[in-house]
Amino acid sequence: MNLLSTASKIGPAKKVRAFNLPLEKTCCASGNRIATDCCRAVCYAPKMSADRPRVHTFAMKNFTESQLPDFVDRMVQQIKGAGVADFKFHVTGDYYSSEYIDKCGQIIRECSHVTFLSYTRSWRDDRLVPDLWELAALPNMKLFLSFDRQTGVPPAIPGTRLAWMACDDSDHPPVKAHIAFRATVERTSDRPPNRRYLPLKIMGKTQVCPHQSGAVTPPADCVTCRICM
Ligand code: SF4
Ligand code: SF4
Repeated sequence: MNLLSTASKIGPAKKVRAFNLPLEKTCCASGNRIATDCCRAVCYAPKMSADRPRVHTFAMKNFTESQLPDFVDRMVQQIKGAGVADFKFHVTGDYYSSEYIDKCGQIIRECSHVTFLSYTRSWRDDRLVPDLWELAALPNMKLFLSFDRQTGVPPAIPGTRLAWMACDDSDHPPVKAHIAFRATVERTSDRPPNRRYLPLKIMGKTQVCPHQSGAVTPPADCVTCRICM
């Protein structure tokens, strides 16, 4: 069974693939505090999961697959088979256990020719922080700690960078981050075609993702932009 997904926002299938997990089994699982009210309200992922049942079903299957003993081997085989140079863990979902993070680390080590990108809020679960330290230490891993005004500032994990999620356009990060995402345009499918929104290139001292800054000619996708990669 195929485990990998494509997403035009990050790039074409020949260059980049992704692995997705369901929100309700990971960041939005009942009883954990990984997601906040702010991020649940503005993140594209809950809307994508609700609007696109096939995406959600696929993510649910992936969650089951990620617990099987041959998960690492199959992921490595499929990533190498896809011939991509970049890979994103979790267009939807997040790291949900030490065992799963360890498996991701094995995959990243085995695919040393691939650059891996991931935004995570799993740093909010203290039990997972030591595992994220190990993940961030891998030379081909770009790990971002996502935060908003309800999370507080993430712990200083070597090798990580910060990604700010604004709840509105006046919601600037309390510390300088590597990149900021705007709530007002995060749910891109909510926008009628060609609707214009106010340009905003900087939030505090942090650069806004050029896909959301109102740039006249934004980069086509993440593999073209590479600010996060
Ligand atoms: S921002 Fe992250 S933690 Fe929050 S809902 Fe989206 S995927 Fe989940
Ligand atoms: S800043 Fe660039 S690489 Fe990062 S999410 Fe935006 S388009 Fe993608």
